[in-house]
Amino acid sequence: MPLSEKALIDRIRRNARRSSSLAAGIGDDCAVQRVVHGYDLLITTDFTLEGIHFRREWYRPAVVGSRCVVRGLSDIAAMGGEPKTVFLSLALPRKLPQRWVDGFMKGLLQTATKFKAVLAGGDTAESPDGVCADIVVTGYVPRGHAILRSGAKPGDEIFVSGALGGSAAALREFFAGRRPQPQDFPRHFAPIPRVAIGRFLRDKNLASSMIDLSDGLSTDLGHICEESGVGAEITAAAIPRARFGRKTALVDLRLGLDGGEDYELLFTSSRGKSVPARIAGVPITRIGRVTRQKKVVLIGQDGSRKRLRPQGWEHFR
Ligand code: ADP
Ligand code: MG
Repeated sequence: MPLSEKALIDRIRRNARRSSSLAAGIGDDCAVQRVVHGYDLLITTDFTLEGIHFRREWYRPAVVGSRCVVRGLSDIAAMGGEPKTVFLSLALPRKLPQRWVDGFMKGLLQTATKFKAVLAGGDTAESPDGVCADIVVTGYVPRGHAILRSGAKPGDEIFVSGALGGSAAALREFFAGRRPQPQDFPRHFAPIPRVAIGRFLRDKNLASSMIDLSDGLSTDLGHICEESGVGAEITAAAIPRARFGRKTALVDLRLGLDGGEDYELLFTSSRGKSVPARIAGVPITRIGRVTRQKKVVLIGQDGSRKRLRPQGWEHFR
């Protein structure tokens, strides 16, 4: 059983870092976050639900905690922002061992700290069934410079960071009844929010639009196109596919196109801007271009052109 609510909050409070950007953190009715002149405040929220986003028997609790906060940090990265605070609303079933909660918090706090975000508050309650962790992450971006999904223009080039499909490859192993090992599937067990890449692109004014790849390329590219009122053409052969297992196998194209939870960045850049081949040590690959025709087309190895439908993750589907 978890500690009582009061004792649990006290323990979380002891482990949370303090920050000069907070006039008050855990312990009062609200956190008091200092607003920085000349900046816009970014706010994002993400659920992590047992049975939907994770299964307790598949992961160490620290992995669940870390992945939980990465979802929000990655959203801040996708705007070109700097993460500042994390809020955690946690509902725990009565039968959950406190050991699990400790592991979860350790993973969450370690990852938040790595990306300079402090835990500034939350809520704690008993869940009728299953762990439910809802996080809010805030961040800052220089005023007016957030990189939106809606800025892509026909003729822009489309880029992606890192490699795709590596996270979904681990899920496929789980669903096949196998036990993928964390060292063989780092993108799944220890995803990295691309904060440094997002910041670089914003700082150098290189991206006309951006999104983080949480649902899968086919779905997330669809979001950029919809918000920007444009279409896209991407080349199958250009998609950087992840390696997995003992680093020997490449994921198949379908996983690269539709696999979710890689937390890489997908962005567009107007022609003439020079996008480096690597940013913050991560390869950046050009995969296609933005078109006026409002559909997403995949150009195959044989030159064939097929409509690419969003087939990534979607709840209730
Ligand atoms: P209230 O009754 O005003 O909601 P709580 O007793 O729920 O206050 O919370 C007390 C303090 O502890 C608040 O500052 C709240 O933000 C913080 N807190 C509660 N649960 C968590 C949690 N899971 N993680 C981080 N902070 C928490
Ligand atoms: Mg409360």
